[in-house]
Amino acid sequence: MRIGLLAGELILSELHKFIFEGLPVRGMLVRLTDAWQDILARRAANSETGAYPAPVRQLLGEMAAAGVLMQGNIKFNGALVLQIFGDGPVKLGVVEVQPDFSLRATCTQVGDVAEDATLSQMVNVNNQGRCAITLDPQDRLPGQQPYQGVVPLFGDQGEKLENISEVLEHYMLQSEQLDTVLVLAADDKVAAGLLIQRLPIEGEGNLAGKADSVEREAALGQSEDFSRIAILTKSLKREELLTLDAETIMHRLYWEEPLARFEPLIGETGPRFACRCSRERVGNMIRSLGTEEVESIIAERGQVDVGCDFCGAEYRFDPVDAAGLFTGLSADLSGGSVH
Ligand SMILES: [Zn+2]
Repeated sequence: MRIGLLAGELILSELHKFIFEGLPVRGMLVRLTDAWQDILARRAANSETGAYPAPVRQLLGEMAAAGVLMQGNIKFNGALVLQIFGDGPVKLGVVEVQPDFSLRATCTQVGDVAEDATLSQMVNVNNQGRCAITLDPQDRLPGQQPYQGVVPLFGDQGEKLENISEVLEHYMLQSEQLDTVLVLAADDKVAAGLLIQRLPIEGEGNLAGKADSVEREAALGQSEDFSRIAILTKSLKREELLTLDAETIMHRLYWEEPLARFEPLIGETGPRFACRCSRERVGNMIRSLGTEEVESIIAERGQVDVGCDFCGAEYRFDPVDAAGLFTGLSADLSGGSVH
């Protein structure tokens, strides 16, 4: 157990997986600390955008925590990309989590966000906002498309959802047919999430007709187990999720349950910030604009400057670099030019 951290000591982000022994329920708890603060600090250092306003920070932090939980929940060798396409002042929110739990996140804001703005006031003003979950295989074959699921930001009664956790609960019920409870929270230090999922019971589909069977009674009992654990999970307050450590949260909620935990993922194996941008990728992106477009940018500004929204890195292509992109004579895409 890892307790009693000294004040000021770097707290590493962590992911805890657990099951309830003998019950068809599994869970995960994530606390993004250093990784989240890294993402916020890079944004704050961007002189064009400045720091995120509090409501945007909460949205992106909750998405980041959820992205890690969803990546941890699937057996899939590829990136999980969680996106919000907004029709309000927040146009886009993106979280990308790799299978090794390295992650990056960014939000694009096009208008003012009030200090007390709700989710719908940020991204679903005209009912056009939506959320997309993309699974992009690591070794994608030529022509193979990534899998994408899209969910609206509305509840069953047509009401606008105000919590990203509810949006994702809907998605998981739709896509995996699994009851899921998600609690998410984020502030300027921590982005955290707790997920509980009801596992399918073997042969459940065949039980419907056997009203008196022992199996059916067992299945009902197990569904009660999930309901009980779901209620415990929902009782967790945002404030508690942000301020309590993982041990305390799990003990407080599940001390009467048969909790079995796996080795926590922390540090090298845990969630951490990493950007995948490179000069080569930026070069490919510039090339895709076409000669004409790139020449007009150079005529106007003397060079092509591209900044990475995720990490803040600046890539500069002078006229010689830019010409090299199209002739294939570029001496060295991996470096070389003036920054
Ligand atoms: Zn980057």
